[in-house]
Amino acid sequence: SEELIRRSEKLSLIGQLAAGIAHEIRNPLTSLRGFMQMYLKEDLDGSKKLRNDVMIAEIDRINEIVSELLVLAKPSNEVFELRDVAQLLTHVTRLFEGQANLYNVQIKKELEANLPLIECQSSINQVFINVVKNAIEAMPTGGEVMMQANQLNGNIYIRIRDTGQGIPFDEINKIGNPFYTTKESGTGLGLMVSMRIIENHNGTMRFESEVGKGTLVEVVLPVDK
Ligand code: ADP
Ligand code: MG
Repeated sequence: SEELIRRSEKLSLIGQLAAGIAHEIRNPLTSLRGFMQMYLKEDLDGSKKLRNDVMIAEIDRINEIVSELLVLAKPSNEVFELRDVAQLLTHVTRLFEGQANLYNVQIKKELEANLPLIECQSSINQVFINVVKNAIEAMPTGGEVMMQANQLNGNIYIRIRDTGQGIPFDEINKIGNPFYTTKESGTGLGLMVSMRIIENHNGTMRFESEVGKGTLVEVVLPVDK
């Protein structure tokens, strides 16, 4: 109906505005960060260096929040294209190779052969990035991330399991609430954004966790939207 069309126009206008503001915030941040790093090179004494490090870390945090908001601001009518789940997951594994190595985390994959291509938006990448990032962050002293994918009854099941600290039973419902984070420098936006993206694909996202054992994140995506 006309009302609906007007509403979606309004939403995309808000999205454009948000994206514009995000870029405007990012540019000055980039230059600030550059100057901070120049100071760092000047061999500062202990307390000055510490302050400088904190400032850089805070700038990075603002950048991260802005990036996550930028995903939300993206129009949900971004194109759907046929993509290969195995390729998406392999791409994410590569992105995290460095961080995984640093924290002694092994990333493993068990992907069923001949998975069908699925229609998805490029933002689907962000979901797996957020989930794997959380998995690695849950294992500061090392562990394993297992990614599995298989096809069943017209859906693709993607399971990402870690051997990290887990999530207490009474906290699991808070996951995906905006700004819910238990991390000192977390944004609490990653999973909210991810759930939004999965909803936009008519899929579901589910969490299972046991404190001290680990967490399973299951994403189910319909093969035919
Ligand atoms: P952030 O990572 O910035 O905290 P997220 O939305 O990605 O925000 O996650 C929200 C919270 O959910 C995390 O702070 C953490 O407490 C919990 N969480 C998410 N994934 C995991 C995981 N794999 N293991 C343990 N806790 C998790
Ligand atoms: Mg996160």
